[in-house]
Amino acid sequence: MIPYGKQEITEADIESVVKILRADFITQGPKVPEFETAIALHCQSSHAIAASSATACLHLACEALGVNKGDRVWTSPISFVASANCALYCNAMVDFVDVNTDTGLMDENQLAKKLKLASQNGTLPKVVIPVHLGGQSCNMKAIALLAKQYDFAVIEDASHSIGAYQYDKPVGSCQYSDITVFSFHPVKIITTGEGGVATTNNQNLANKMKRLRSHGVTREPEALTELPHGPWYYQQLELGFNYRLTDLQAALGLSQLTRLTSIILKRNELANRYSQALETMPYEHLTQLSDCYSSYHLYIIRVPSSWHSALFHELRNNGIGVNLHYIPIPSQPFYKRLGFSEKDYPNAMEYYHSAISLPLYPTLTIAEQDRVIQCISNFANVITTTKNAIDSGDTIT
Ligand SMILES: *Cc1c(COP(=O)(O)O)cnc(C)c1O
Repeated sequence: MIPYGKQEITEADIESVVKILRADFITQGPKVPEFETAIALHCQSSHAIAASSATACLHLACEALGVNKGDRVWTSPISFVASANCALYCNAMVDFVDVNTDTGLMDENQLAKKLKLASQNGTLPKVVIPVHLGGQSCNMKAIALLAKQYDFAVIEDASHSIGAYQYDKPVGSCQYSDITVFSFHPVKIITTGEGGVATTNNQNLANKMKRLRSHGVTREPEALTELPHGPWYYQQLELGFNYRLTDLQAALGLSQLTRLTSIILKRNELANRYSQALETMPYEHLTQLSDCYSSYHLYIIRVPSSWHSALFHELRNNGIGVNLHYIPIPSQPFYKRLGFSEKDYPNAMEYYHSAISLPLYPTLTIAEQDRVIQCISNFANVITTTKNAIDSGDTIT
């Protein structure tokens, strides 16, 4: 089976982890801060806070921004469930802004409309979480303008986007947001096994996320509310979590990070090969925006809904591990029980019935990619031949 995504672990990666296994600290040693510094340097952000997953980072980000009972958080229906769950962890209310079907990204015009209505009803969100689907960024300039106008904070769910650029700046620079979150799950661009990082330019948010990641405990002299009882002293200032990344994971991340540029280049090359091949086929791919350099976590094609399921089965039956990103979050049973209805997100539903993620990862060979291309091309030929035969009144044997 050719999978849709796959991690690449090199000998250098393995050696760097083994080195930590033989060192004094396998967690809470020097590697996590080193990894954070390297991420902040790449992202051109002032701070980077590593945690046990992007889900943990999203939760920390919401907590740091003060999301609480009675608050509202809006995100995209076309995302992994974690983008919405983080608001519910804080006992806030969640809602979704429908997507643009050509990009699968949160539609800034729908956002503007929804905000206008919410301001009349007194139901404005405290935080909006745009999701950079497949490695292409949402319209962050437009979202930042709305954030100013309606006074909400912005968390970029950039789980797919380490190594991507927008407006000639690395995603994670937080030029148009308060916090950006990356995932290092093995299917993503680089991996730490499980893991994530939040970047920010705000010192207070950084301090808060750091403290909450480790039980709400601090040893920083300037944060203490009373004089230390002795050199053993620490204080718990708020209710935090154990969301720490380990030094083993950070070592793997540091080693992977050295290859980031070449990984993104390879993903872009393979994506361009798909796009070229698709030009002569009756498929579309997601519209690429000129102000973005995508990390191409995913290569998503869009097919007529009447073919969608059949093509998906055909590819899977041919050993091609296609996938679907994503089932709209409001259509999940858990969210339906909260009162969400698919009918309220028609674009997300239309997108859902048309999207297929083709295999894409740096070690995908040209021969493997050609097999994928051949398979979708054959399917299109069969469909169009059958359709032409029906249109011309021929009987099909
Ligand atoms: C993978 C992913 C997450 C969650 O990442 P984890 O590191 O697995 O917690 C959140 N949002 C999006 C869009 C993702 O793709």
